[in-house]
Amino acid sequence: MASAAGIDIGAVDIEVRELERLRAKYAHERDRRLRAEGVAQYRSATGKYGYYAKDPYTPTIERRPVDDRVDALVVGAGFGGLLTGARLRETGLERIRLTDEAGDVGGTWYWNRYPGIHCDIEASVYMPLLEEVGTVPTRRYAPGEEIRRHAVAIAEHYRLYEHALFQTRVTALTWDEENDEWVAGTDRGDVVRARYVVVSQGTLTQPKLPGIPGIDTFRGNTFHTSRWDYAYTGGTAEGGLTGLNDKRVAVIGTGATGLQVVPHVGRDAQHLYVFQRTPSTVGVRDNRPLAENWPASLKPGWQRDRMNNFLAAVTGEPVDEDLIQDGWTRTARLQRTYLAGVVDTSVPEPERQLTDEMLDARAMNEIRARVDEVVSDPAAAEKLKPWYRYMCKRPGFSDEYLPTFNRPTVTLVDTADTGGITRMTETGVVVGEDEYPVDCVIFATGFDVGRSGVVTGALPVIGRGGRALLDTWREHGPQTLHGLYSPGYPNLFLLGSMQNANAVNFVHILQEQADHIGAVVARAAETGARCVEPRTDDAVAWVRTIEEVSADTTAFQAECTPGYYNAEGRTVAARTYSPGPVAFHRLLREWRAEHLDDVLVPSAQSGTR
Ligand code: NDP
Repeated sequence: MASAAGIDIGAVDIEVRELERLRAKYAHERDRRLRAEGVAQYRSATGKYGYYAKDPYTPTIERRPVDDRVDALVVGAGFGGLLTGARLRETGLERIRLTDEAGDVGGTWYWNRYPGIHCDIEASVYMPLLEEVGTVPTRRYAPGEEIRRHAVAIAEHYRLYEHALFQTRVTALTWDEENDEWVAGTDRGDVVRARYVVVSQGTLTQPKLPGIPGIDTFRGNTFHTSRWDYAYTGGTAEGGLTGLNDKRVAVIGTGATGLQVVPHVGRDAQHLYVFQRTPSTVGVRDNRPLAENWPASLKPGWQRDRMNNFLAAVTGEPVDEDLIQDGWTRTARLQRTYLAGVVDTSVPEPERQLTDEMLDARAMNEIRARVDEVVSDPAAAEKLKPWYRYMCKRPGFSDEYLPTFNRPTVTLVDTADTGGITRMTETGVVVGEDEYPVDCVIFATGFDVGRSGVVTGALPVIGRGGRALLDTWREHGPQTLHGLYSPGYPNLFLLGSMQNANAVNFVHILQEQADHIGAVVARAAETGARCVEPRTDDAVAWVRTIEEVSADTTAFQAECTPGYYNAEGRTVAARTYSPGPVAFHRLLREWRAEHLDDVLVPSAQSGTR
């Protein structure tokens, strides 16, 4: 059987003529899906669509506004906020306040509880602080609920619930020059004064809907996968959706989420219609239970070693042994076309690109062959084949998704020719001239590709001299040192990939950011610094470094089928450290050894740097 996970990167056996045929086919398939409106085709789950973002998991928390002072305010209680909170706790900060719009910690794992949810990155490297907290994942790819509970365990272990405010959105941050602290306002009327502020708002949080005409006329039940309505479907994230036994259900969207949801709904619904615009790549998953207490025989520090090994393997760094050996590490070279990492410069660029394209073609041929092997209806199989290069969309993995289309109660409805769903009526979904009557419509249509509120303006930040961060950035472009802090905005740390690093296992990136912030804050405490703030010259130099090293992936993206990776066909310039996260983390370590004091404003000094 062809195995997507088993791509042998060594041999190249694709003929150039086949490559030309593939290029033409890929361009044809991309053009069928390109929409003039680009990202404007979508609607955020706000305003009249706000219903789709409502929290189904936690009843409204009633509380009085707070007016107090903390050592650190952490905006966002996903893994970025938790990891930074943990490190700040270790530096000795006492009053640490997590805030989140959700009803608890967990970020994406708080919101996403749909049936079938698993993390498709191995638990041993994805779930942070396993050794510190003592959590032992039960499956190679952990179920979402296990990850969510681990997030809760981290918050408990580091006492991060003590001052936490949930269902609370920070609406403004203003630097108080006189007192060297931030003043935060919230949508609950709180006033929180904080010495340090950390913003970690994630990238895929706000549910997104297609702008389908008639979407609000549908009279059946409807919800987004990140707000699963178990009261209606019955069952749990493990399945058993008995409420759907007598229901005709539409699932719209076949990305990484659709791949996990469809097998469960397909098993339990009276009839399932899967509305697909672009098929995902479906590589081998190979999930399995792990032995009880499996880390017992491992040496302390094993998790960092394993995380480092995975990061190195997927970003093209040399490793003695690939400890993970899964679909991610085996396709590492293909990932270089889009993500940062090491490229082989010993061969001329055109030759390398041609070899990459051939390897890509081979991998995609295997993925398409798997569809033919698994799906018995040749017409459905044809529609389920992805025709684009491997990293044009986020790769998917599943051993249950494709077999679902062999069920007589599951129908695949391809919408590529109409650029998606044509419209919705009171009773169903229309594609072209055909109406599909359904009782329930589930949107697996993804998220606004977020940038933090700091960057979109949803969270205004006013720094030294009453200057808005966005005004400063509009004038000079985003100006940070290592992506983490900006001159003029003391004691404010921003988590994310901008001018920092990116990787498949983004939690690892967040871990390194948290470690770095922890080291800076510890040094500030040790030296009695007035505050932390990078010098303008250092930030300017860092931005220049990012510009100089940034790999240009725009040519690759321009040929890709539309999706959020290329802003629906428009291409997005990389703004991360292209030599890759391993090199970037090395750079940070070296910087910490030599330059920690460069970002400290001594207690005697005042004003901007
Ligand atoms: P995606 O944005 O990846 O997918 C959205 C889906 O909706 C696509 O199939 C898209 O089709 C489809 N769609 C959008 N508009 C229409 C329309 N008008 N008509 C028909 N179909 C439409 O969202 P996901 O929630 O699947 O995934 C988001 C991200 O979340 C992933 O990329 C991944 O980063 C993360 N994730 C991670 C998981 C993990 O295990 N670590 C698991 C699940 C998600 P088209 O492709 O044509 O635009």
